[in-house]
Amino acid sequence: MKIHEFQAKELFRRYSLPVPGGGMAITVEEALAIADEISAYPLVVKAQIHAGGRGKGGGVKLAANRDELQNYAGEILGMTLVTPQTGPEGRLVQGVLVEQAADIVQELYLSLLPDRATATIVIMASSAGGMDIEETATTMPDKIIKVSVNPLQGLQPHHVRQVLFGLGIAPDMMKQWSALLAALYRLFVENDCSLVEINPLAITGSGSLLAVDAKIELDDNALFRHADLQNYRDSNEEDPLEAKARQYNLNYIRLSGNVGNMVNGAGLAMATMDIIKKAGADPANFLDVGGGATAEMVEKGFEIILSDPNVKGIFINIFGGILRCDVLATGIVEAVRKCNVTVPLVIRMEGTNVEQGRKILADSGLQLITAVDMADAAAKVAEMVA
Ligand code: GDP
Ligand code: MN
Repeated sequence: MKIHEFQAKELFRRYSLPVPGGGMAITVEEALAIADEISAYPLVVKAQIHAGGRGKGGGVKLAANRDELQNYAGEILGMTLVTPQTGPEGRLVQGVLVEQAADIVQELYLSLLPDRATATIVIMASSAGGMDIEETATTMPDKIIKVSVNPLQGLQPHHVRQVLFGLGIAPDMMKQWSALLAALYRLFVENDCSLVEINPLAITGSGSLLAVDAKIELDDNALFRHADLQNYRDSNEEDPLEAKARQYNLNYIRLSGNVGNMVNGAGLAMATMDIIKKAGADPANFLDVGGGATAEMVEKGFEIILSDPNVKGIFINIFGGILRCDVLATGIVEAVRKCNVTVPLVIRMEGTNVEQGRKILADSGLQLITAVDMADAAAKVAEMVA
């Protein structure tokens, strides 16, 4: 789950990480009230959306005085902000962070993220932080330092030294850096983060470190043990279909293709997407209704797939294991009747009680296209959506 910058900074404060003073506003009046409290200009107004690159899209503005602040807050609130990360449709800005502007001397980059290949937590850092970090990563990859931390050992002094020497940090700043790295690592682990990123991490005119930006992503699978963090969810920022799927415990991720697919089991869902690709088509979603899917879940799955206007055909790929084929077939027939399906449906079904399952489908009177195996089903659906 992604969270907003102002929420990430709230979490930073709990770990005594240095962040600018400020507050979140959803109206121009609120923005002015926060500004009047801080009162020392320049201030910065920052669009709160779940996407980066806001600076490049005009979502981050420095205000030299109260009038400017009022204008920028008015401009940014309610704008559809397009950044390199939002896609061309952009995002509606519903909140702004009003902060004391930082006096930035140098912009660095610092992030923590899990690396699955090595089963470690990787610290990435660069002395060339700021808005062009992606470009730096591709054109000058040696400008980015990577230090792997074994999570069972935790952050050790030698890791810290590797980062500090790699960045060429001046001796008089090493204490600040060590404290910051230790606190950030603790924040990452204690909150089950999948990403913590500070870009830019500023060195200010007074020689202090300051997290000018803050980005955090939380591991969805660990959210159940962080009641406080669950409140950070902003459903305005989520795909409405994904939000609805979560309500019904369906694992659904929307994709950009036109073949909807309904599958039981995550592994089979992955294989199904692969075979759709191999047949020359593109999946419109990942959907795992789960090994223990009920008829209601199958129905909700259909509703969700059909709410996506890109879907031109549906591939139902079922393996009857824990849940038998006859039960699933009944669920599918009921769901198709209720949902008024208007696109072609291709079904491949195997497993326990498959003969009874096929008979239920055949006797249903519905226009279901059956396939002998996965490749056949994928070829049929690919042809229909072409
Ligand atoms: P992002 O573009 O979404 O990553 O948003 P950031 O919070 O990183 O802001 C974009 C850029 O605006 C930063 O890289 C800074 O160069 C600049 N910026 C943001 N806040 C301040 C500030 O308080 N003072 C100054 N001087 N520049 C800032
Ligand atoms: Mn940034």
